[in-house]
Amino acid sequence: MTTIAFIGLGNMGIGMASNLAKSGHDVRALDISEEAVVRAVTAGCVAARHIQDAVEKADVVITMLPAGAHVKMVYGGEDGVFAHAQKGTLMIDCSTIDVASAREVIGSATHKDFEMIDAPVSGGVGGAAAGTLTFMCGGTAEAYGRAKPFLDIMGKNVFHAGDAGNGQVAKICNNMLLGIHMIGTCEAFNLAEKLGLDAQTFYDISSTASGQNWSMTSYCPAPGPVESAPSNRDYQPGFTAAMMLKDLRLAQDAATSARAATPLGTQSEALYALMEAAEKDGLDFSGIMKLINGSL
Ligand code: NAD
Repeated sequence: MTTIAFIGLGNMGIGMASNLAKSGHDVRALDISEEAVVRAVTAGCVAARHIQDAVEKADVVITMLPAGAHVKMVYGGEDGVFAHAQKGTLMIDCSTIDVASAREVIGSATHKDFEMIDAPVSGGVGGAAAGTLTFMCGGTAEAYGRAKPFLDIMGKNVFHAGDAGNGQVAKICNNMLLGIHMIGTCEAFNLAEKLGLDAQTFYDISSTASGQNWSMTSYCPAPGPVESAPSNRDYQPGFTAAMMLKDLRLAQDAATSARAATPLGTQSEALYALMEAAEKDGLDFSGIMKLINGSL
């Protein structure tokens, strides 16, 4: 049994912390929301009152927080993880954050002689609860090797993407591609319909032709062809347009700093920002179909 401090028990963190507790680990649960901590205790974790209480006896610290600023504060703040963790503690940040912050925090950890990786996830709330997440990890081979047994409990696929920050790179590049092909798929289905070709017939043809892609065959944004897709339940999420916009913004920030041309990534961010402006970003990200076909 390993003592694990788990900080950030929101939609994702609660499922992940529960799975670690279920597998027999001693999980010290911390969140600024009292309600979230109560849920974690019900799921078998032990409540922690503050960062020191959570991490001082922990062998592993796992964080699942909203953004880079939270991660920097939780680790590097005056009363943060670095100030209170014991020697040898392994640190795993599973939040989706900007590449620069991930590299900065892991750099500080290394400077203080701690091993740390970035390990953002895909698979959503369902994957977190079921323990079937995909982890994309950045950091040294040694730190990754130590983290893997814990990630295996929370996920199904665990990848080492290279040096510190490369997990975040894999995550934002994948989600930028997802945003782009989702919008392209919406455009194709909308045009087909306007030209008199129904969604099911177009799906039958294109899903076995060169236009085939994941947004079409697993998550079709046109109602009908894929039974389990959010388009068949009025675009209730799933993965919200707001979360897609967050990831597209992270991709654009990274593209600017790397001087990489991402013209379609830029367009995708602008289109999802229109969902936000229309206050429809709580819909599933495939709900961008409504923007494209004029029914938003
Ligand atoms: P969430 O907002 O539900 O949870 C974040 C939790 O962190 C909240 O409970 C909040 O109270 C807590 N928190 C914030 N600041 C804190 C602090 N200083 N100390 C302790 N707790 C603090 O978010 P989520 O949906 O669980 O997502 C978490 C991360 O995972 C994000 O980076 C998100 O981009 C990423 N992610 C989410 C999904 C998804 O489908 N929800 C999928 C993949 C990745």
